[in-house]
Amino acid sequence: MVYRTYGRTGKQVSILGFGGMRFEDVDDHDASTAMMVEAAEGGVNYFDTAPKYFGTKGEKAFGAGLAELRRRGMPYYLSTKTFESEESAIRREIEGQLKRLDVDHIDFYHVWCITTLDNWRERRRNGVIEAFRRLKEEGLVGHICVSSHLIGDEIRELLEEGVFEGVLFGYSAYNFKTRQQAFDAIRQYNLGCAVMNPLGGGIIPRHPQLFPSLSRGEGETTVEGALRFLFSHEDITLSLVGFGNGSHVHDALAAVERFEREGAVDLEAVMSEVDTTFEGICTGCQYCDNCPEGIPIPKLMDAYNHKILFDDEKQVVSRLKNYWNVDPTFAGRCIECAQCEDECTQHLPIISRLAEIGRLAG
Ligand code: SF4
Ligand code: SF4
Repeated sequence: MVYRTYGRTGKQVSILGFGGMRFEDVDDHDASTAMMVEAAEGGVNYFDTAPKYFGTKGEKAFGAGLAELRRRGMPYYLSTKTFESEESAIRREIEGQLKRLDVDHIDFYHVWCITTLDNWRERRRNGVIEAFRRLKEEGLVGHICVSSHLIGDEIRELLEEGVFEGVLFGYSAYNFKTRQQAFDAIRQYNLGCAVMNPLGGGIIPRHPQLFPSLSRGEGETTVEGALRFLFSHEDITLSLVGFGNGSHVHDALAAVERFEREGAVDLEAVMSEVDTTFEGICTGCQYCDNCPEGIPIPKLMDAYNHKILFDDEKQVVSRLKNYWNVDPTFAGRCIECAQCEDECTQHLPIISRLAEIGRLAG
């Protein structure tokens, strides 16, 4: 296993993290515990869950697994999150989490899922920072972190608040362009950086032909290549993989072994090659993100990507609602000024795609 320092916390964490959001049977604690033990035996020491993974069942499964790790003397760091922003609600939440997880503190506690800067400002007004700081002073929380779906300059702005010690966001060979700006702030503030969704929501393994440059080593699968791409990025402290069963754990550990054996990939080369394969796909570069009607164009275009890649138009609306927390009827605000199309680096027909999203939302 390879370990990296999680920002200014000084904690040494494994580059592969255990994500607890995809258990095939969350009620089968024997199975989830066996997966956590196998991961820990392979050197994984960062375990991430959340209070709404399978309701609260995800944290209960973690509680059983962590107890077994302690019984075996295996070291670990625990990460979880809260949507709450008022101190009384955060305290109620963490009290339940500590019980479910069967621990007396949480190492990495995240302000969970910031989707817009307005949403962040509201939570800050509610006192989330002060509440987290008090929890840290009391020893209930080790480090204050944030998870976010913000992209482009907005994620940099969030991190420039200077209050966080680490950040968690989605990043993969499919959507790396959307979050490049985050790394400026990560370096500037010496933040830990965990990334999730390393397979681009399944886009990468389902469409390996789009990512020929990811499989570089002999016999390397696209999944292994996608992980090696992330491990090669030195600003990324660790990559979380959501494990469904034991073979997923095994495969991800094999990807770490390959990374140790064969070393980093040339990131610039992979990025430029991946870029050229995305004909008709929005790359999330943000150049269009200045709509006079306030339409969050990159988010709508990301959702439209799912129609192209999966040939399934239902995914467009669900991606907007469930991932981006964006009302799909936003698309109907377009006044067809064409400013965005003039700026689009991929020369995409944004106006007609918005009209189509409007119809799908209708
Ligand atoms: S064409 Fe529509 S989406 Fe594009 S900038 Fe103008 S109003 Fe916004
Ligand atoms: S400019 Fe084009 S490719 Fe870039 S985010 Fe906007 S729609 Fe996507």
